[in-house]
Amino acid sequence: MRFTTLSCLLLFLFAFGNATTVTAQSDPLKLKYFGAAGWEITDGTIKVLVDPYLTRIKLGTGPSISPDDTRATVEREDIFVSDTLLIDTLITDADFILVHHSHFDHLADVPYIARITGAKVVGTETTCNILRAYGIPDEQLYPVKGGEDYQFDNFSVRVIPSIHSALNAKHYIDNRTYAEVPKAPLKVSEFIEGGSLMFKARFANHDVLTMGSMNFVERELQGIETDILIAGVNRSQLGLYKYDERLLKVTNNPKIIIPTHWDNFRVPYGFPQQEIAESKLFPFRDHVKHLSPETKVIIPQHLGTIVIE
Ligand SMILES: [Zn+2]
Repeated sequence: MRFTTLSCLLLFLFAFGNATTVTAQSDPLKLKYFGAAGWEITDGTIKVLVDPYLTRIKLGTGPSISPDDTRATVEREDIFVSDTLLIDTLITDADFILVHHSHFDHLADVPYIARITGAKVVGTETTCNILRAYGIPDEQLYPVKGGEDYQFDNFSVRVIPSIHSALNAKHYIDNRTYAEVPKAPLKVSEFIEGGSLMFKARFANHDVLTMGSMNFVERELQGIETDILIAGVNRSQLGLYKYDERLLKVTNNPKIIIPTHWDNFRVPYGFPQQEIAESKLFPFRDHVKHLSPETKVIIPQHLGTIVIE
C-alpha cells in the first residue's frame, strides 16, 4: 500500500514538482502545496505549515474514490492512522503549524507532524485538546478564539474568526467542541470541526491571508489588507451569495490569489485531478480574472512550489 503511494509520489514529483516563479521586489516567499488545504510556507527564516494533511485516506465509497487506488478503504468510524512514511519523506522541520479547524483533512496528521518537528501549533481549543490527547505538550500549543494578534520571533500571525463551508446544501451546522481532552487515538468522525479560523501570516516581505474553508465572515476581514490570498474555492453547489465578488471586495482585490482546498483529497498524490480542476478550479480562476483583471491567480500543483520574489 505504502509502496504504491510512494511510487506514485515519486513519479508525480518527477512530472510536476517544478517551481512557478512570480517576480516582485522583495525576498522570495516559497509556498509548497500539499493538497486539500495544506501548505508549507517559508521566507527562508521561518517555516510555517498550514493544515498539513498528507495521508489522504481512501474515505468511503463513491465518485471521489479511484478504482486505481489499491489502498484499503477507511470508514468514518475507523481510527485515523497517519501515513508516517509518506510524511517523513515530505516534512522534516517546521517552526509553526496553523490549523483552520479540526476536521480530519486539516488536523489528523498534525499530531504526528507536531511531534516530529516540535513546531508551535496555533488553533482552536478543540484543536489543542485533540493534540493534547496525542501527547503534544502545552508549551507547543497556542489555543485561540479569533482576534488574537501574536508576535513571535521573525513572524507574526493574526487570528481571524471564520465559519465553515456551507456543506449539505446549506444544512451544515456543528457546534460541538472538545472542552476537555478526548481519548486518543481518534476515529475519523471524532475530528469534529470545533470552530473555524482564518489567519493573516506576516512573513519577512509578504503577508499571506489563509483560508481553510469556502466561507468567511465579512466584518472580520474588513480592513485586513494582504498581497497574497490563499482562497477556498467555492462553487455554486455550496450555495453562497456572490462568494467570489464578496471575497475579492472585502480583501481589496489582492495582487495574488492562490486557490486552495479544490482537489479530490481522497486519492493519493499523482492521481488525476483534471475533472475536478475543470469543474471547480478553472471556473474560479476565470471568474476572479474577470472580476479583478489585475489579480494574478496562481494554480498550485500537488507538491509543487510557488516562488514569490
Ligand atoms: Zn472541514
